[in-house]
Amino acid sequence: MSQIPLFGSRRRVREVIPHHCHVNGCQVPVPPKLLMCRRHWKLVPRRLQRAVWVHFNPAQCGPDVEARPLPTKKWHEAADAALRYVEKIEAPPPAPG
Ligand SMILES: [Zn+2]
Repeated sequence: MSQIPLFGSRRRVREVIPHHCHVNGCQVPVPPKLLMCRRHWKLVPRRLQRAVWVHFNPAQCGPDVEARPLPTKKWHEAADAALRYVEKIEAPPPAPG
């Protein structure tokens, strides 16, 4: 009785967690530490950008998902404020129908 290997490829797959811009509908891939793509980030006022960075903990985007600390409430507030700001500027046209 011979065993047929189910997995032919021995290539190691490094787990890459896809991460993209958090702005609604934006699919631009960005490094996990960045909240938004360059284009959107540039729309965010300086004080909101600063708030996001001040409360950002690089460990919250660490490679080990299990070991990641959750982002702080303050970071969420800052990130939300920045995202809302961009989404207000880029409000999508009303859906047809
Ligand atoms: Zn974007």
